[in-house]
Amino acid sequence: AIPLVVAISTAVSAQNGLLIRNRTAFEESRKISALLFDKTGTLTKGDFGVTRIESVSETYSVDEILRLASALEQSSEHPIAVGIIKKVKADKVTIPKPEKFNSITGKGVEANVEGKEIKVVSPGYLRDEKIAIPDDAYSDAAETVVFVLIDGKLAGYIALSDEIRPESAEAIKTFKKNNIKVYMATGDNEKTAKAVSDKLGLDGYYAEVLPHQKVEIVKDLQDKGEFVAMTGDGVNDAPALAQANVGVAVGSGSDIAAETADIILVNSNPKDIANLILFGKATYNKMI
Ligand code: ADP
Ligand code: MG
Repeated sequence: AIPLVVAISTAVSAQNGLLIRNRTAFEESRKISALLFDKTGTLTKGDFGVTRIESVSETYSVDEILRLASALEQSSEHPIAVGIIKKVKADKVTIPKPEKFNSITGKGVEANVEGKEIKVVSPGYLRDEKIAIPDDAYSDAAETVVFVLIDGKLAGYIALSDEIRPESAEAIKTFKKNNIKVYMATGDNEKTAKAVSDKLGLDGYYAEVLPHQKVEIVKDLQDKGEFVAMTGDGVNDAPALAQANVGVAVGSGSDIAAETADIILVNSNPKDIANLILFGKATYNKMI
């Protein structure tokens, strides 16, 4: 006979956009006391649109900054890259070819374009290199800003905006009702992270997180006695997904994240996790 949990988990997953890879994790989902969500594509839509491009250079115009940046971003799958390429295609700009493309983990991308060294990077990268961040870069806290360096000098920046998923607010209501704490870990900047966290009323957030730091965040929460579920999408999230009591890979993410995870969130929708936990609790109550 098929064990009850298998039958139930199959039914739940079919209806709720979940793929259960580990039966124990499904049974244990009712014990989750803290959730650590990634921001982009899970709590937010992950659909970035370019809102502003500014030049701080005497040599390079806004159009030139966008054109050079696009050469790198066409080789990246990051939602920021997708947003920049969307803008370039709408403007009918011809994208130049990059050479020696490299992605700088958690910080951005770099390549040579038309004999120049181009980088598109996070504010954290600028701080590490002791390059001053322009005053007006963060005039809107909701924007995500990436900086364009040309031959080692800051040439300008590109601001993008994403939207909070309507389902996130609903899911968070359910978690609060069930005394489950909700945290967010993001590689994005402090101001944007705070804006999202405040809007959703989260219990806390971690900003400018590098991939390897996620394991430590999960461990810290576990040390505080929490039974932790974490969502992740990247190759670099695999160790943290393994550390979490319930590792949840989002559907749009990498194969390696999916192979490490206990559960796959097919539509990257936080509400599906809320339903999973409620269903787990209800099922368990019926069985005892
Ligand atoms: P997250 O998934 O939370 O955005 P990442 O580690 O993927 O975290 O990225 C962290 C930061 O690095 C981004 O917020 C951005 O500033 C920068 N970054 C990463 N990839 C790119 C890219 N392709 N182009 C520009 N900036 C990038
Ligand atoms: Mg990422």
